[in-house]
Amino acid sequence: MRWDRWLSVVLVRPWYRRAHERGRVLPVLMYHSISPDPEPGVPPYYRLCTHPVRFAAQMQWLKDHGYCGVTLSEGLTWLQDGLGSSASAAPERPVAITFDDGFQDFYTAAFPVLQRLGFRATMYLATGFIGDQRRNFQPRGASTVPGVVGRPCLTWSEIAELAAAGIEFGAHTVTHPELPRLPWPEIEWEVKESKATLEERLSRPVRSFAHPYAFPAERRDYACHLLDLLGRAGYESAVTTRIGRVRPTTPALMLPRLPLNDADDPCLLEAKLAGAYDWMGKAQAFARLLRHLKSGMFGGHRTPPSARPVPAARQALHE
Ligand SMILES: [Zn+2]
Repeated sequence: MRWDRWLSVVLVRPWYRRAHERGRVLPVLMYHSISPDPEPGVPPYYRLCTHPVRFAAQMQWLKDHGYCGVTLSEGLTWLQDGLGSSASAAPERPVAITFDDGFQDFYTAAFPVLQRLGFRATMYLATGFIGDQRRNFQPRGASTVPGVVGRPCLTWSEIAELAAAGIEFGAHTVTHPELPRLPWPEIEWEVKESKATLEERLSRPVRSFAHPYAFPAERRDYACHLLDLLGRAGYESAVTTRIGRVRPTTPALMLPRLPLNDADDPCLLEAKLAGAYDWMGKAQAFARLLRHLKSGMFGGHRTPPSARPVPAARQALHE
């Protein structure tokens, strides 16, 4: 029994069907690898792979139900002002489609499907694994993501082709480390160097970031300082693995997403898009807070006195 699916589809979804949705809401889908790897032994909730056939079916379901796949930036623009200059071309039901880690299978398995349906998407790259020659994904401290370690990544020529076709690229650090474990100068380098590399290679501004691993919102001082750092580095948006959908008031540097993988059948996909999976975000935050309290990590990652969190970042964490 998969309890998150059962609760979302059977219990919460029917209630959401009756509830009136107030205001604009942007679902941001989160994918990793589009490949037939069954990830044996990994519970459905934690899987990072989506079979290409399943992915094509999910995208077709979106198309058939009036959704249009857009980049994160396009989705945020729609969320903030649907009356902007591109309003006439704005899709009625945009859904932002994002991919983390820059795997080659995005080029071979995901992009052809997106292109056929007229969808766009945002890919977040860890620039240390992108080369003119093919490199493999070898994240620093890789023990927590064994399923995707060693997978081939995109090359710069493939990225140029994808960018020319409307795919947006964001930064996902250089070495894909667990940022809270690093000293601040190294965190700053990861955040700024990945952006600079992408901007040089793409010849365009890069304003979106994807936090590697879980964003530790429960560690207030660390989180405030990181958001401040992202803002000063020139990032305007950042996505996390927190579960939920984005509203106009959601802090732009800690955006929630809806995780999708091979286990997402049409019923669960529909429930997630409708908001019937958002409760998982609260359960997720509560579980993280309990782990944090249990491990006694209060103040475990000290913020340098010279870089105290700015009030705006602190306020964002309280929303
Ligand atoms: Zn990642």
